[in-house]
Amino acid sequence: MSGQVCGRFAPTPSGRMHLGNLFCALMAWLSVRSAGGRILLRIEDLDLRRCPEEGPNTGLLLEDLRWLGLDFDEGEGVGGPHAPYRQSQRFSLYEQALEKLQRAGHVYPCFCSRAELHAAEAPHLSDGRVLYAGTCRGLSAQEIERKSRVRPPALRLQVPKERISFCDRLRGEYAENLAEECGDFIIRRSDGVYAYQLAVVVDDAAMGVSEVVRGQDLLSSTPRQLLLYRMLGQPAPQFFHLPLLLAPDGRRLSKRDRDLDMGELRRRYAGPEPILGKLAALCGLLPKAEPVKAQELIGCFCWGKLKKEDILVPPGMF
Ligand code: GLU
Repeated sequence: MSGQVCGRFAPTPSGRMHLGNLFCALMAWLSVRSAGGRILLRIEDLDLRRCPEEGPNTGLLLEDLRWLGLDFDEGEGVGGPHAPYRQSQRFSLYEQALEKLQRAGHVYPCFCSRAELHAAEAPHLSDGRVLYAGTCRGLSAQEIERKSRVRPPALRLQVPKERISFCDRLRGEYAENLAEECGDFIIRRSDGVYAYQLAVVVDDAAMGVSEVVRGQDLLSSTPRQLLLYRMLGQPAPQFFHLPLLLAPDGRRLSKRDRDLDMGELRRRYAGPEPILGKLAALCGLLPKAEPVKAQELIGCFCWGKLKKEDILVPPGMF
């Protein structure tokens, strides 16, 4: 990895960008631009059922980013040395990584149905997630052969009984014991679609990404990804997990909050400056909400100013 900072924005085009995605894109972009690094745009359309290739979302996304004044040094719509920049076109790389993991004996097929996985007796974690009990871990070659005739398996990564910790650049130390808090996780679904966890690691490593800026909702994915970096023999990037933007009722903003999506925001505002100014004030970068261009925020960006707790978006602010 060269000395230059390389960041990325890696949206899933399953709907129009909303204020939360914009916040993430802006922070990733400012972090890189203020350090004189390069930033790339990768489209995470692994699941073509959710993100159809012919769908309008990617085009709108590129157009929204341009409208906001966020430019990219490489990526979808720009090109560059690591093309293609759509995950749906990078399956051969995921396959190579999978083969490497398989050769090292870290992967096994799992035939459990959704109903079996969510059965009442399955161990549940405090956040409601189900801990995979390892049912298919010890299957014999004959059992695998017999079960494969009935249904295609998902592929799971066997996790070690080990605490994996890292220092998040915004939130400090974070650790998870993967065996106890996550369990063996899926790296390829039974329908052949590669899991986000594998694809994101393969792509960030292949593209030379040195810093990952993303929402705090992905904090708990990071130990799994660090394990994959290690197993694939790749250096891991730095991580910055951003506070989430919350709707007035305390819910996390999502693509369902149509009133704060880019379509609606662009109908309300002639240009991006008032939106960027309000967002910068909300997150602590500006003392008050004054219209500002993305470029003008570069000079005042510093991670130390950024709020660490989740950010409530007051009703009617945008
Ligand atoms: N594609 C993911 C999303 O849109 C982000 C992945 C990441 O930043 O690691 O939520």
